[in-house]
Amino acid sequence: MSLDPTSLAQGVLAGQRRALARAITLIESTRPDHREAAEALLHQLLPHTGRSVRIGITGVPGAGKSTFIEAFGLHVVDKGHRLAVLAVDPSSPRSGGSILGDKTRMEELSRDERAFIRPSPSGCTLGGVARRTREAMLVCEAAGFDVIVVETVGVGQDEIDIVKLAEVSIVVLVPGMGDDIQALKAGIMEIGDIFVINKCDHPGVEKMERAVLAMLSLAHREDGWQPPIVKTVATEGEGVEELATTIDKAYSFFESSPQKAGKKQDAARQRLITLLQERLVSTVMQRVFADGELDKIIEQITNRQQDPYTIVDEIVRNSELKRYK
Ligand code: GDP
Repeated sequence: MSLDPTSLAQGVLAGQRRALARAITLIESTRPDHREAAEALLHQLLPHTGRSVRIGITGVPGAGKSTFIEAFGLHVVDKGHRLAVLAVDPSSPRSGGSILGDKTRMEELSRDERAFIRPSPSGCTLGGVARRTREAMLVCEAAGFDVIVVETVGVGQDEIDIVKLAEVSIVVLVPGMGDDIQALKAGIMEIGDIFVINKCDHPGVEKMERAVLAMLSLAHREDGWQPPIVKTVATEGEGVEELATTIDKAYSFFESSPQKAGKKQDAARQRLITLLQERLVSTVMQRVFADGELDKIIEQITNRQQDPYTIVDEIVRNSELKRYK
């Protein structure tokens, strides 16, 4: 397949699905030459980004996320938007494919030409899942999708990092998982801007609502936003309209928040640092540790013939790092 960044960029900007899919594949690749091409591609696409609303959705498997995204997605495209859905499952092994691979999900939405659904590969060893997801989002933005949903499973650090990429984060809960909410507390609960209780046709809705309210009453948000709870029955499309309105409200609130500039700066800083880390490490791996060299040094460290501090110090001292102007 052609992975020439310039022709890919042209294809993406022209809204060609094949180019879009290939561009994301390129971004997900771990091969160093692909990485270079991906960076060249992103460089060309960046000027065409920044106009989309990014929504993060997380929740345990089976909470009804895909049912819900389909209902919400159809609602969004019917309002004249173009919607991209990126699904990420950082915890599953790469060979296991994606969370979308094992069953037919979002069937109607995936047939709709106003929507683009992308199951992302997962289980990357060196972290970086959030970085790749962000880049896939940028590609979708450049391709003209003005609403981007990123879906993740679970509550690990990777998921939290991914949800942070979104402007509005939604946590999907279901009645009867009252005990699990304790486990969710630490991470996801803090970043949820909207809490959806799905499967409200099941018993235990009030109990769940009380648990969420109790937890929210303990949380303090600097931006002053009070996360609302929206009750849905995704299979019936119930509550979807209300959710869309709530997302709009949250989005407007955050857009006009005095914290917004600071958040953007934090994100930009973090992005630069992450990119630098990745690039520096991979450059050192390629250039400094030629074939087998790394293994030898690891063995020496293990045998205490060498220490890692000295090695890192030597590498950095011998590298010509100039001041960036
Ligand atoms: P995901 O793993 O979070 O994406 O969950 P799915 O969307 O695949 O849904 C898991 C199951 O729950 C499916 O069989 C859905 O049909 C069902 N489901 C989703 N939403 C609802 C709901 O609101 N009520 C009921 N009763 N079932 C639902």
